[in-house]
Amino acid sequence: MKTTRSAKLFERGQQLIPGGVNSPVRAFRSVGGQPRFISRAKGSRLYDVDGNTYIDYVLSWGPMILGHAAPSVIAAVRKAAGRGTSFGAPTELEVSLAEMIREAFPSMEKIRLVSSGTEAVMSAIRVARGFTKRDTILKFEGCYHGHSDYLLAKAGSGLATLGIPDSPGVPEDFAKHTLTAPYNDIGAVRRLVDNHRGRLACIILEPIAGNMGVVPPAPDFLSDLRKLTLEHDILLIFDEVITGFRVAYGGAQSLYGVTPDLTVLGKIIGGGLPVGAYGGRREIMDLIAPSGPVYQAGTLSGNPLAVTAGIATLTKLKGRGVYTGLEARAAAFAKGMGAAAKKAGIPLTQTRVGSMLTSFFTASPVRDWTTVKQSDTQRYGRFFHKMLDQGIYLAPSQFEAVFLSTAHSSAEIDKTLRAASAAFKSL
Ligand code: PMP
Repeated sequence: MKTTRSAKLFERGQQLIPGGVNSPVRAFRSVGGQPRFISRAKGSRLYDVDGNTYIDYVLSWGPMILGHAAPSVIAAVRKAAGRGTSFGAPTELEVSLAEMIREAFPSMEKIRLVSSGTEAVMSAIRVARGFTKRDTILKFEGCYHGHSDYLLAKAGSGLATLGIPDSPGVPEDFAKHTLTAPYNDIGAVRRLVDNHRGRLACIILEPIAGNMGVVPPAPDFLSDLRKLTLEHDILLIFDEVITGFRVAYGGAQSLYGVTPDLTVLGKIIGGGLPVGAYGGRREIMDLIAPSGPVYQAGTLSGNPLAVTAGIATLTKLKGRGVYTGLEARAAAFAKGMGAAAKKAGIPLTQTRVGSMLTSFFTASPVRDWTTVKQSDTQRYGRFFHKMLDQGIYLAPSQFEAVFLSTAHSSAEIDKTLRAASAAFKSL
C-alpha cells in the first residue's frame, strides 16, 4: 500500500501542529506507524491522499451513523449554506432540532445547543453546580467527557491511549473537586457519597462506556445510581455524546429505562458538523442565562449548517427499521470476529450494545478500566495494521469503539471478516 503522500503531509503537519494532528488519537501513537491523510469519504468508505480505499469503522468517532456524505444530509447542508453560514441570531432550525431531541429524550425538557461535546459537558456541570450550590463532582475511571479541566482526571479516550492519567495544566485546586470511582462499582460510589455527604453536585457517566472501548453497564448499575443520587439530592448526568441516537433513537436512557436529571449529546445530532447539546429538567435548565444567572454562551452555538445536518440525520434515523438494521449488521460483525479469533486461537473478549462494540485482546471479562487495561495493546496494534493494510480502517487504539453505519453492506462486513481471519492467523 502506497503511503508516500500521507507521509509527506504528516511531516509537514508536524512542523507546526503538535504531533501533526488536531486531536491526539489521530496520530497513531499507540499503534505505531503514521496516520493516513483523508481526502474524501462516501458511505462506509474513506479515501486517502495516496488513492487507497478503506472500509471505515471509526466514522469520525461516531457521528456518521448514516455513512459519509449521506445524500439527504449533503443536499440539506448545501441548501442551508446558500442562505448564509452564521447569523448570531435565533433560527427556526434551532427550535426544530431542539423539538426533535426532546421528542427522542423526554427527560431533556429544556435544551441548549453548543458546538462540541466538551462544551456541552462543561456547561452541564456548571449548571449542576449552580443548581445544587455544591462543588464536588464524581466521574468514573476510563470515562471521557471532553477535555475541560475538571474532567481530565483518570479519563478515557486519548488519555487512556497515551497513558496520561491526569493532565498537567489543570490546577490542583480544580482537580480536588473531582472524585473518581471504578465503572460498574456501586459500592465504591456509595462509599464516596457517604464520605462527601452534602458536597456532591453531580455524578456524571457514560451510561454505556465507549471511551475505554465499549463497556456496558452491569445490571442495575444505572438504576442503583439513580436511587442513590435521588436519596442524596445529587444530580445524575448521562453523557450520551456517543450513545445518543446510536444505541437507540432515545439513547441509552431509553434502552435501560433510567432517567437522568441532565443529558449531554454531541456527535450524531450534528450529522458530522460541530454540535453539542445539554438539557434536562426544566427547573435546572431555567437557571441558564438569560433565564437565570448561570452563564453560558457561544458565537456559533446553534450554527445553521450544523443544525441542518443534525435535523437531516435525525430525520433519516426516525425511519422504520433503521436500528434493527444496525443491530443486525453489528451482530454479524461481532459474531464473525469472535469466530475468526477462535479459529486462530486468539483470546478475545467482545462487548457490544447495538452498533457500538469492541473486541478486547484479553481472555478475561471486562467491566471497568482495570479489567480493560489487561488487554494486549501490542497485539491490538499488530492487528490494527494487518487490517489497515487490507483496507479496513479501525480505531488506532484498543480503547475505542467500532461503529457501524447504515451504509455498511453485508458484502463489506464479509470482506472485513475475511480480512480479520487473515489478520488473526498472522498474529
Ligand atoms: N463525551 C463523550 C462521551 C465523548 O465520547 C466525547 C468525544 N469523544 C466528548 C464528551 C467530547 O466531545 P467533543 O470531542 O465533541 O468535544
